[in-house]
Amino acid sequence: MENELKTDLLEWCRSQGISLVGVADARRWENPPFQPWMPPEFYPRSIFPETESVIVIGLPVLLPIIETTPSIYYHEHYNTLNRLLDQFTYLIAERLNACGYPSVPIPRDGYGSIDVLREKPLAFFSHRHAAFLAGLGTFGMNNMILTPRYGPRVRFSSVFTAAPLPPDPLLQEDLCTRCRKCVEMCPSGALPDEMYPAGLTRKRACTDYSADLHRKYISPCGACIMVCPVGRDRDHFNRDARDLSLPEGKESPRGRARSHVQAYGGKSTSGEE
Ligand code: SF4
Ligand code: SF4
Repeated sequence: MENELKTDLLEWCRSQGISLVGVADARRWENPPFQPWMPPEFYPRSIFPETESVIVIGLPVLLPIIETTPSIYYHEHYNTLNRLLDQFTYLIAERLNACGYPSVPIPRDGYGSIDVLREKPLAFFSHRHAAFLAGLGTFGMNNMILTPRYGPRVRFSSVFTAAPLPPDPLLQEDLCTRCRKCVEMCPSGALPDEMYPAGLTRKRACTDYSADLHRKYISPCGACIMVCPVGRDRDHFNRDARDLSLPEGKESPRGRARSHVQAYGGKSTSGEE
């Protein structure tokens, strides 16, 4: 029965164009795979006690768009992905509710504004840890989940359900190469030199930089996911993993395109409209 339910769910997700789907048993949160782990109040069953399984979906951030960051282009793309994630997780939860399994979607972001995030830089639930526990990827030095298909260029969201779905195995291969490109490219110095979880993002530095971009209508930053060489999307878009010097490459066709996009739709770095 649960196998059929999962097959039906995966088929529906495929029909909707949802690129990544994974399932984690809710008990996985109670057996931390590494330390430091999160406090129990962040576990799915603390938020929705009926939870048996957590379904995690992921939509890719398209590489040529994030290569223009910071820009109105990436800003709008990010918002589009967020809207789609919220719609898909709502529809998944409702499909499961209709089958008799109490289910709820979790919003892809859990904060009201960047100012709130500055005061308390956490959401009530971590989709990154859920994606890890659903076997979709592994953590990188940029503190993000790296996936085989898209590297860290994925937005995740989750559904808590009382359906005891067959869980997916954790990804065994550590995808991060420790190349440190993300650390070197971070404009706010927010990324540590150590591998996650020993090295944690300096969230205040990242949030302050995002707040500055937000005032110019061109947040978020995302440089640390743009430069990561992991992901088959680089081959798909014919992006050489060694060619990551895009911001300085203004003489190349891609560099000129980036400069053009950045000149419109948001306040410039000099503060002009
Ligand atoms: S989003 Fe930007 S500022 Fe934040 S950690 Fe990544 S590169 Fe640094
Ligand atoms: S850029 Fe390099 S160090 Fe950073 S997450 Fe990707 S593979 Fe790891």
